Amino acid sequence: MNLAELQARIKRNEPLARHTTSRIGGPADLLIEARSSDELLLIIGRADEMNLPCLVLGGGANVLVSDKGIRGMVVINRSKEMKFNVRDTTARVEVDSGVSLIALARDCIERGLAGMEWAIGVPGTVGGGVVGNAGAHGADIASNLYMTRVLRRGYAAEWWTPRQLAFEYRSSALKKYSIHERPIVLSAIFDLRRDNRTNLERRSNEFNTKRKTSQPPGATIGSMFKNPKGDYAGRLIEACGLKGMRLGGAKISEVHANFFVNVDHASASDILNLVNVAQAEVFKQFGVELELEVELLGDWGQAKSSSDALFELEDEE
Ligand SMILES: Cc1cc2nc3c(=O)[nH]c(=O)nc-3n(C[C@H](O)[C@H](O)[C@H](O)COP(=O)(O)OP(=O)(O)OC[C@H]3O[C@@H](n4cnc5c(N)ncnc54)[C@H](O)[C@@H]3O)c2cc1C
Repeated sequence: MNLAELQARIKRNEPLARHTTSRIGGPADLLIEARSSDELLLIIGRADEMNLPCLVLGGGANVLVSDKGIRGMVVINRSKEMKFNVRDTTARVEVDSGVSLIALARDCIERGLAGMEWAIGVPGTVGGGVVGNAGAHGADIASNLYMTRVLRRGYAAEWWTPRQLAFEYRSSALKKYSIHERPIVLSAIFDLRRDNRTNLERRSNEFNTKRKTSQPPGATIGSMFKNPKGDYAGRLIEACGLKGMRLGGAKISEVHANFFVNVDHASASDILNLVNVAQAEVFKQFGVELELEVELLGDWGQAKSSSDALFELEDEE
């Protein structure tokens, strides 16, 4: 692999709707898939040298990309290596950041290794998971991460401890950086322990069944808002009577009100309008400010404020 080969793989004006779980998102000026962590390093290094704004996407499962799209370069991370080191009762796995969380969970279960089974139904990659401290069923990335290899922009790659990553509920030190300055997650090492494969399969089947009955199928971005302390965003949105509300091609799910579904060629603005309505209504009725879990990316121009959306809704009524 050399720079000329990489250059030949760059796509121009590539619709990001092809690279997000919501099937929403305008074009990236330039887009390239990194097939290994070496390629990821090379591409980011080169873009930084050229002062080209550049960001990495994994599964696009936690972002809402604007209809105008993203200026500069988007790198889709497809690095895939997984290396297991199994001892008597414990094990470690070193994975590239482009490995899907579901593939990692499945592989660990098949080898009778416990620790990642919570991720069995979580879309997206290890890289996105580390940035947002993904989690489910009482566990998260922080639960058993040993170390992460990180590329700070303009520096050599280095290993960060969980302490340096300062994990919080659906956040980390990495998430606090602006998108174009955010250090890149190259790989991660997780601590695992030996367990009975049948037990692990039973647990993961239970997790999958729970997810299937509580979350909507179709094109979504997962939970739109973080749960406020001591409550649930979905409960608050439902209590405002917004379940099933539709604007354009986007709908607040009837199955789970914290999931916003692209039901019919929704635009990013359709989703953002629903976000504004939900935030404004929940604030009006409960005094709670819902904070986005999903990250807004790209060029939004003049996005509407929550109060604008609420006034418009009242005018329509
Ligand atoms: C149906 C559905 C169910 C979901 N359920 C859950 C759940 O149970 N629990 C949960 O926590 N989440 C859930 N999510 C959200 C999503 O799965 C997680 O947030 C996941 O970790 C996102 O990973 P990603 O690779 O898709 O990140 P992306 O959406 O691609 O990126 C998210 C952010 O991370 C950055 N990023 C991505 N990769 C890297 C990297 N290698 N280095 C630096 N920055 C990077 C991006 O630039 C972006 O800022 C769900 C989503 C869907 C669609």
